[in-house]
Amino acid sequence: MTNEPLIDTLGRVHTNLRISVTDRCNIRCFYCMPEENVQFLSRREILTFEEIERFARVTAKLGVNKIRLTGGEPLVRSGLSDLVARLTAIEGINDIALTTNGILLEEQAQSLKDAGLTRINISLDALTEETFRRIARRDGLDRVLAGIEAAKAAGFKKIRLNAVAIKGITEAEVVPLTNFARQQGMEMRFIEFMPLDAENNWQHDQVLRGEDIRRQIEAAIGPLDAADRPDPSQPATDFRFTDGGGTIGFINPVTQPFCEDCNRLRVTAEGRIRNCLFSTVEWDARALLRGGGTDKELVQLIRDCVRAKKPGHGIDSADFHKPQRAMYQIGG
Ligand code: SAM
Repeated sequence: MTNEPLIDTLGRVHTNLRISVTDRCNIRCFYCMPEENVQFLSRREILTFEEIERFARVTAKLGVNKIRLTGGEPLVRSGLSDLVARLTAIEGINDIALTTNGILLEEQAQSLKDAGLTRINISLDALTEETFRRIARRDGLDRVLAGIEAAKAAGFKKIRLNAVAIKGITEAEVVPLTNFARQQGMEMRFIEFMPLDAENNWQHDQVLRGEDIRRQIEAAIGPLDAADRPDPSQPATDFRFTDGGGTIGFINPVTQPFCEDCNRLRVTAEGRIRNCLFSTVEWDARALLRGGGTDKELVQLIRDCVRAKKPGHGIDSADFHKPQRAMYQIGG
């Protein structure tokens, strides 16, 4: 049956689609991109909004109900709110989220909200200018903070702040970031550094473990209780401050992989379907979208991709091979 859900060989039902709208970015975080001379895709190579919409429509018929727009930096793609409006109109899609570094959010928050965007995650690794610049290799902290304000003012209710945690660099940021999120009424989430950097410098000992961050926060701020897990496929393990001061999440893909509940499918900016961040294989949807392929052929391609999903990313296995692509080329 063409409209059967996207179930892989381990029974994982795929309802969550991450769409990268560009590989371009306005900062150069060392864990994601090269610092200089980045070879970006040309405009011609990336999917048009029409192509993205068609792809999303086909996946929605197969049970995808959540979309997250990412990149690169999605807000550098012009007219992004037009894409949000197109996706909002697709039957079956009831949640459209965005992951952004926030630098261009002040200008775009209101139009994104008006277009139907439901949720925003803003990346904020540091609250000190020096650490921000050390990671991003560009200025911009003040722009990100202005973007956070603008997102609140536009009426987004569920704003999450995501910080990649890196040993030797961000320990001193953990408590200030957490306090900042609590003051803002937002959820702070710490993400373990994964081997997806462009310069192949990742080392296991640079991973600041989620468990260690949690202990640091409990010692400095106060006790945390495990929160409910309403959605087993959510990447974060959430905790609640016992003083009622909000929740905090830990995304621990390196030390506590959550692959067995993964329901995510990705499409890169140039239309390659991926079943895992760490996949070394891709399925070329653009060839079908531009080559007169039918929706039925597209469905088959998506199913082939889902069926080939491995049980886990295998970062810790002896035969682990880092994907050829870095994070900015996949879409986080
Ligand atoms: N530019 C947007 C942003 O900064 O949120 C969206 C794309 S970015 C690739 C998505 C998320 O992936 C960000 O929160 C980023 O910090 C995270 N990320 C990038 N490289 C990573 C890595 N090697 N390990 C863990 N998280 C990473």
